[in-house]
Amino acid sequence: MWDAAVNTLGADWLFQGVWGLVSIFVVEMVRDAYHVASHLWPPLIPLHNWHHKAYRKDFSVVSTELYQKAQIYNDVPEALVMMMAMAGIAVVTPLWGFWLGFVYGASFLIAALLRSQGLFHGSDLTHEPGPLKTRPGIWFVNRTYHWRHHFDETTAYYAGYFTLSDKVMGTALSLKGKTVAVTGASGTLGRALIKQLAAQGAKPIALSRSADVTIEGAVKIIPWQAGREKDLGDVLKRVNILVINHGINVHGERTADAIAKSLEVNALSAWRLMEVFLETVDNRLGPATKELWVNTSEAEVNPAFSPLYETSKRLLGDLITLRRQDAPCVVRKLILGPFKSNLNPVGVMSAEWVASAIVSLAKRDIRNIIVTINPLTYLAFPIKETAQSIYFKIFSRNPKK
Ligand SMILES: [Zn+2]
Ligand SMILES: [Zn+2]
Repeated sequence: MWDAAVNTLGADWLFQGVWGLVSIFVVEMVRDAYHVASHLWPPLIPLHNWHHKAYRKDFSVVSTELYQKAQIYNDVPEALVMMMAMAGIAVVTPLWGFWLGFVYGASFLIAALLRSQGLFHGSDLTHEPGPLKTRPGIWFVNRTYHWRHHFDETTAYYAGYFTLSDKVMGTALSLKGKTVAVTGASGTLGRALIKQLAAQGAKPIALSRSADVTIEGAVKIIPWQAGREKDLGDVLKRVNILVINHGINVHGERTADAIAKSLEVNALSAWRLMEVFLETVDNRLGPATKELWVNTSEAEVNPAFSPLYETSKRLLGDLITLRRQDAPCVVRKLILGPFKSNLNPVGVMSAEWVASAIVSLAKRDIRNIIVTINPLTYLAFPIKETAQSIYFKIFSRNPKK
């Protein structure tokens, strides 16, 4: 009987312990919801403004007075809301594990009160001053991630600790005002992407073989062709996001010329352009303000019924996997299935739909964007990419890093 009582007690503690961990996640979601409200609900806006006014662009504090006011008017009420929400859940449910979330909120209240009185000088991890050295975190907020909320776009990047809230809201990447250059811009997908990017408030630049085309949504058309990557150096300095989307498909051909063309356009030109762009990512703000997207296609893991298309796209995919181990900015792969175009009239998906899915997933900070109707790709690609990434990490190195 005594044993049974101890067992029940143990099980109960375990049960509440799990809810305690859940409460940490929930209380962070409450913080993010309060943050969103602080940008949208007029009574909270002036309180939260103190937080935004307290920092310079390198996250150094503008003045002690502003910093202390920010603690009082923003951090203290935020912590109180977090505590009240957790106490509410603990009392109503009643899952007493949620009191852990309450204590967690209380620790932020104490830190904010001490900071507001100048009694505690430790800055929190997401506001430490200095240059931005790392890429934005994928699942957890780091300095580079949060810097964008202050200085890139205040209506995005709301998350405080778990980036999941931004992923759900589609605010994990803002395209507003970003200069986005797209290669292969006059092709079916290039055109559709430029239209979608423009709809998101981006300023798309079309890189196309001929300047003599009209491309809806493009603010500028720059003539460019594969093989002249270095010529784009100056243009790319001012570009936030480069989308490498050009490519050719020689279908069933297997001549020496077809091999040369496929490797040159689909793999080598794309790789050289990637290197030219990565050179422009400065080590001060670059990791927060620049991104590279590369369309490697589903041919990375599945047949495209065009051997040279597969071979060249797989080479490009491998080079990106190798290079993005220590790339200075976010590098996204676009893994796309067949869509309807002039080259592929039997494609099932429309290019417009594919383009809007790409943009929607990028705004959720998905780094490997898969858009296809083939279920095998969703299974095969993540396995291939993870395994290869680990293998490359072990057997390669970059002495410059
Ligand atoms: Zn804010
Ligand atoms: Zn902040």
